[in-house]
Amino acid sequence: MPITKMTGIAASDGIAIAPVYLLAEPDLSFETKQVEDVTAEVARVDLAVTQATAEITAIRNTAAESLGEEEAQVFDAHLMFLSDPEFVGQVKTKIEDEKINAEAALKEVSDMFVMMFSSMEDNPYMQERAADVRDVSERMMAVLLGVKLPSPATINEEVIVVAHDLTPSDTAQLNKQFVKAFVTNIGGRTSHSAIMARSLEIPAIVGTGSILDSVADGQVIIVDALEGEIITNPTPEDIETYNEKALAYEQQKAEWAKLVDAETVTKDGHHVELAANIGTPKDAEGAVNNGAEGIGLYRTEFLYMDSADFPTEDEQYEAYKAVLEAMEGKPVVVRTMDIGGDKELSYLDLPEEMNPFLGYRAIRISLDQQDMFKTQLRALLRASVHGALRIMFPMIATLPEFREAKEILLEVKNELLAEGIAVSDDIQVGIMVEIPAAAVLADQFAKEVDFFSIGTNDLIQYSMAADRMNERVSYLYQPYNPSILRLIKNVIDAAHAEGKWTGMCGEMAGDQIAAPILLGLGLDEFSMSASSVLKTRSLFSKLNKSEMEALADVALNQCTTNEEVVALVAQATADL
Ligand code: PEP
Ligand code: MG
Repeated sequence: MPITKMTGIAASDGIAIAPVYLLAEPDLSFETKQVEDVTAEVARVDLAVTQATAEITAIRNTAAESLGEEEAQVFDAHLMFLSDPEFVGQVKTKIEDEKINAEAALKEVSDMFVMMFSSMEDNPYMQERAADVRDVSERMMAVLLGVKLPSPATINEEVIVVAHDLTPSDTAQLNKQFVKAFVTNIGGRTSHSAIMARSLEIPAIVGTGSILDSVADGQVIIVDALEGEIITNPTPEDIETYNEKALAYEQQKAEWAKLVDAETVTKDGHHVELAANIGTPKDAEGAVNNGAEGIGLYRTEFLYMDSADFPTEDEQYEAYKAVLEAMEGKPVVVRTMDIGGDKELSYLDLPEEMNPFLGYRAIRISLDQQDMFKTQLRALLRASVHGALRIMFPMIATLPEFREAKEILLEVKNELLAEGIAVSDDIQVGIMVEIPAAAVLADQFAKEVDFFSIGTNDLIQYSMAADRMNERVSYLYQPYNPSILRLIKNVIDAAHAEGKWTGMCGEMAGDQIAAPILLGLGLDEFSMSASSVLKTRSLFSKLNKSEMEALADVALNQCTTNEEVVALVAQATADL
């Protein structure tokens, strides 16, 4: 009896029914053979080059069309390499000299090039070229072997992508017109593929454990990303049931959509700000369409991760300006780059660490490699005249870190002014509170910052000592644990005591169980995936702030576990 139902973590809302597109590692194994007809073998190489060039060009064009020129640029480097006569020439020479098959010659030459490039460890440009050689050779090898390489950027019919995991760049290549959902073996609600799925508004289930081994390419499956369930062998009745459920969900979304221009106000007249988290300038459109009142978190590291080298000051300026302009004067909180942890940057040569989440990352890198930091700050300050910019530093643990970052910001501002470049004089500067030490010391920070934004994705993992990506300890990842709620209250109260505001840009802000309590605790700004904005506005319109204050008090002082808080909120909101 085949498995019919699997479960995972619902990471991005929605329901989809479509054939599977397996994004699995292709089998490119081959045997080394001696050949007699050397000319024929050389001709196979020419054919592989021609076909690989055609495939990469097609991928490049699709990626440029659906995702933008920036995402497409990596393929230009591949094309350039393929047209380099040196590489292909060496493959042919090897066939002629050693009378071996094209596969064997290609493998030997590509290994040699990769080794040569990657041995130049200090040269990020060469490291990138090594990656290009690997990609291009893999594609040529696939042509020679007649194997189809999965390429998410070229998907042009409705599918559900199934993979072990998706890297941020895989995720960025997904065209939501065709990719109806994705499902992965690993990952959690706050892993970056999950966060990107929400900003692309693609339904997703992650952390299934074994989806990749449980379905075949082309098999129709149902993904219910509202519940975190996958029906792998649906009957016609299942399909009908889920089509109805999908329709009901669409109708609910249509109801929420009516609130797109409404203010966010509770039943008893209390206003809060509902903002969206974005990863790229293009996401700002989704924020506007979903009625966000601002951007509460622009994760700028994606700008670095989607590029083959450090983005220049001008490239960054254009990106920040685009977001500020798209938001038409509404506040935009831009976080300086948060590289490290699970967000790698191939051209920034970081040594491997035992505990990357506790290591050299985010503001620690920025304060250490100040040229890179200053370039980002210059771009931000130059863009500040195009809207209401707020700058935020990630992973602040101590006040001296904040002071140093702010001082560098001031220094850069003075440099720009001296150069005659205009800078807004109304830029708020704040910090992410995502390290427990900063949450505990919030009263002292509140005297120096303009605002806090609580990063619960990390705050929870650091407080509970439970890796946010590790399913085996995910039971400890407890947003509603009274200990977390008390830390959050400490931060909000500390800000208010100094007349400052507190936002939250961790996933918890858009969580329908957490939001009522956060409202009761007095959180001022809630920043979440654009797709959660309208349903949260609808939820708040049905709540009384005064009742939520009482609810929060019980949660913090009478509940002892995560589960008790969930039950408390569920009971309090059951009739809405
Ligand atoms: C957080 O830690 O809550 C956060 C918003 O940042 P990121 O998810 O990018 O680490
Ligand atoms: Mg974080």
